[in-house]
Amino acid sequence: MQIQERTRQTSGAAALSFTHVDLSAFHPDMGAKYSPNLYQFLAHRRNKGLAARARVFSTADSTMYIGFFDDTGCFIGARMSRVLCYGAKVEVTCPMNLGDMAEVEDFWYQYARDGRCAIDRAHDQYFLNAETRWATQGNLRCCQWCKQVSQRLVLREDRVVTDQWVNS
Ligand SMILES: [Zn+2]
Repeated sequence: MQIQERTRQTSGAAALSFTHVDLSAFHPDMGAKYSPNLYQFLAHRRNKGLAARARVFSTADSTMYIGFFDDTGCFIGARMSRVLCYGAKVEVTCPMNLGDMAEVEDFWYQYARDGRCAIDRAHDQYFLNAETRWATQGNLRCCQWCKQVSQRLVLREDRVVTDQWVNS
């Protein structure tokens, strides 16, 4: 039997504090850098209470969760990667056993400025509508969402040797 251990907050906001996030600023019409699914998740009437308090937390293995801690110290929310993929279909739960979670400071400020790059600073994840992310010229591309990252195309030769019987 797995022991249920409480998910704990190691830093950040007081329980139940409001974020006063203006959801309309993150509507997909405001820019392709904003996730349509994250918007729909927070805008869904079922998630009204969550939207007013939603903060972003990171576990020890850097998995992001969106939600809040209630006044008993329980975390209420959902995994960010699921929200980005499935939007309003994602159920909000009280996940246990996540261990220590630290708040991603100023997440909404970073999201307003950089869109989904605030969730993928390494620029190595695939997102829906990712074709709007990069402006490519030759072997260079620049991120159009945060306008802070450029990448160059590196050619790598993978030599594969296989043996096969053929008719002689
Ligand atoms: Zn970027």
